[in-house]
Amino acid sequence: MQPRILIIYTGGTIGMIEDPHTGSLKPFDFSHLMENVPKVEMLGYKIDNIQFAPPIDSSDMSPEHWQDIAHSIADNYDKYDGFVVLHGTDTMAYTASALSFMLQYLAKPIIITGSQLPIGEVRTDGEENLITALQIAAARGRDGHPMVQEVAILFNNYLWRGNRATKRSADHFNAFRTYNYPYLAHIGLGIDYHEEALTMRNPAEPLKVEYRLEPSVMVIDLFPGISETTLRHLLFTPQIKGIVLRTFGAGNAPTSPWFIQAVKEACESGRIILNVTQCHNGSVHPERYVAGDMLAATGVISGRDITTEAALTKMMHLFGIGLSGQGVIDAITRPLCGEMTPR
Ligand code: ASP
Repeated sequence: MQPRILIIYTGGTIGMIEDPHTGSLKPFDFSHLMENVPKVEMLGYKIDNIQFAPPIDSSDMSPEHWQDIAHSIADNYDKYDGFVVLHGTDTMAYTASALSFMLQYLAKPIIITGSQLPIGEVRTDGEENLITALQIAAARGRDGHPMVQEVAILFNNYLWRGNRATKRSADHFNAFRTYNYPYLAHIGLGIDYHEEALTMRNPAEPLKVEYRLEPSVMVIDLFPGISETTLRHLLFTPQIKGIVLRTFGAGNAPTSPWFIQAVKEACESGRIILNVTQCHNGSVHPERYVAGDMLAATGVISGRDITTEAALTKMMHLFGIGLSGQGVIDAITRPLCGEMTPR
């Protein structure tokens, strides 16, 4: 049967053209995108599209946009075999992470892609990325189930788990990577799926979409020389419920009494603080150094090997669904959809 794919075009470089007056890139109409990729017709799929009006640079992405994307998927879930989301690269990993938490019991492919060069340019990577994303969205396994049943990022010659991915290059075509998880597929002459790494869901469970997201969360990046005033200012930002604290190495932070005291007070105020390493690869191990141990004793929770993007959006999701206190702590320390390695 002819695969049916829905493209959701949000914006980003993939759909950009040069403004003839200023020379800078600006978003353009989706119909232009299809004109530029006549090869899409050759796939023989039934392809429909929905587009953001106006398309946006992904630097403008917000939880409301994630809700819009989730709505477009949920409203059309039964009508299509797979979904391709065209998105700017800058915040793609945040969107992929957020959607993975919002789309529960997902049993169809949500393939997010974009490009480093606009699709209208001769050397564009957008054409290949779009075509490969469509093929993956249409791919079936031996028993006929969708090959990919999760939110994934297709970029250049790899397919990555969405909630494990990070944008790693502003210049290279291979712009994404999951530093703590193997790739889901390698794209060469063929598409070589890494089946053990793919999530397999029970299609009997109907899709459940959780739209609620709590925006009162933030990221604090530690740096040598951070002052008590700065730290307290950030930790006690009004209304903040959850903080992703990006620490050094295996989850280490300054051991000065003023630092420990400020973090302890923030935890006691009810804020949930999740310790995530600034390193791309590896995990938080609070027990490894005194500097990590002292931080853990304040009430800060280990985020183990979760990315900043997944940690932040997971917090938005958990507070959004109405959890608080111990409820958030319990849920944040266990993998919900493959975003962290189980203990
Ligand atoms: N600034 C663009 C965006 O994220 C970059 C890109 O698409 O690669 O929308």
